Amino acid sequence: MRTATLPDHVTGLLIDGNWQPPSGAGWLDVVAPAEGAVFARIAAGTEADVDRAVASARAALSGDWGQLTAVERGRLLGRMVEAVQDHAEELAALEARDTGKPIAQARADLIACARYFEYYAGAADKVHGETIPFLNGHLAATERVPHGVTAHIIPWNYPAQMFPRSVGPALAMGNAVVMKPAEDACLTPLRMADLMIEAGFPAGAINMVTGLGREAGAALSGHPGIDFISFIGSSETGIAIQTAAARNHIGCTLELGGKSAQIVFADADPARLVPTVIAAITQHAGQTCSAGSRLLIERAAMERILPLVAEAFAGVRVVMPGMEGQLGPVINPRQKARVEGYQARAAADGLPVIARGRMSDGLSETGYFVEPQMIGPVPRDNPLAVEEIFGPVLAVIPFEDEADAIALANATPYGLTAGVWTADGARALRVARAMQVGQVFVNCYGAGGGIELPFGGMKKSGHGREKGFEALLEFSTLRTLVIRHD
Ligand code: NAP
Ligand code: MG
Repeated sequence: MRTATLPDHVTGLLIDGNWQPPSGAGWLDVVAPAEGAVFARIAAGTEADVDRAVASARAALSGDWGQLTAVERGRLLGRMVEAVQDHAEELAALEARDTGKPIAQARADLIACARYFEYYAGAADKVHGETIPFLNGHLAATERVPHGVTAHIIPWNYPAQMFPRSVGPALAMGNAVVMKPAEDACLTPLRMADLMIEAGFPAGAINMVTGLGREAGAALSGHPGIDFISFIGSSETGIAIQTAAARNHIGCTLELGGKSAQIVFADADPARLVPTVIAAITQHAGQTCSAGSRLLIERAAMERILPLVAEAFAGVRVVMPGMEGQLGPVINPRQKARVEGYQARAAADGLPVIARGRMSDGLSETGYFVEPQMIGPVPRDNPLAVEEIFGPVLAVIPFEDEADAIALANATPYGLTAGVWTADGARALRVARAMQVGQVFVNCYGAGGGIELPFGGMKKSGHGREKGFEALLEFSTLRTLVIRHD
């Protein structure tokens, strides 16, 4: 794990097909969260760098990239499947070190990454318009066309998955891309962009500008030369992004936070739900937008099912990235303070800790580790019941009946995902269809999984859909043609 780093030539910003130094003097330290130590550096991109990257993307649209057919774009994306598979171990080690997650999780992320490229490679030439019955002597048709230059801003939690999820459908549709990855973890996107150049993507099709959100991110999202923004991150930054998009009269998709519920009825199968409920809150230390951070449990199930969840939760191990266990550290000291602040507040409010995860021997003393906690019963108006923590904290909230479960599940500002656990098929459907969220799972839960499944929020979780075929529609727009021939 200690050797994981970028090849020497991957340094600075990727603009016009070349790695180049930033125009300012700035470089930023890259810290490994499990070590609390610097292990690499990235360029601090400036407004001037964003200008150059947008110009490079614009030029690509009228250059070689813009001349490619859909099938040729698909073939280029297809080459990335093999490239990612060939470099999977290198990329997984880099991802584990940069984000702090266990290597097994990073390997799973790289499998998903290759699958994104595979999906959008295959889909590139399968998006088409329609003909429309219209006036006699006229042919009316629609065609899907790229937006132009698309801006992509992604977070630090799953960079290896977010990169292909965001740029895959954009490139499949023929857009030229400028990405600003997150300062806290962005090395695998840089390496993958480099592999894209090696795979033969024409200069300017993909541009990477690292740097601070408030500087490079703000410059990109407000740039008059972009035509669409794809943003994944916090609800607060989402407001800034949407405001910037409004100023340029362009569209955006916002994938924001969540406070997703696992709704467990008394007739649910514990053998199935227990491991899934645990994984949904501990995966990447709860730093998953679709983390199942609320366990809503029917009061009648408290005695039979809750102790089984607690027992499994107590078996969760916090580990270094190279070790076997469920979770590593959180991303930075600010996130550690935030999670521990919520835990301290819960303790001050007198909320019982039902179970605690275990800190393994051998954790670095300078890493950003936090103790996983399962806390409850949590009163419904407590911050733990409604606010996104983005850490390994599971809030347990009992409910009385089906109507109560639905009201409770919908009683947060967020609306990303939900899980429904019951043996009653009709009830499962009723509850699932009453959820004000973008994705519902019944007797399963795929936190973040499912490349084929349209994903996105309602309410404060954002709007627009990424993943699946739907993303191809988001990353393109419609042109209607009317041809008179009488
Ligand atoms: P964040 O601050 O919103 O950061 C996300 C990205 O936006 C980063 O690349 C960041 O850059 C950039 N950024 C920050 N301020 C900006 C600005 N003013 N203009 C343009 N870009 C800006 O979010 P975070 O706190 O790091 O990430 C955690 C949040 O993301 C959580 O709320 C989580 O739920 C959400 N999230 C959602 C999804 C989803 O799919 N729905 C997935 C993952 C995470 P720097 O960090 O480099 O400054
Ligand atoms: Mg890092």
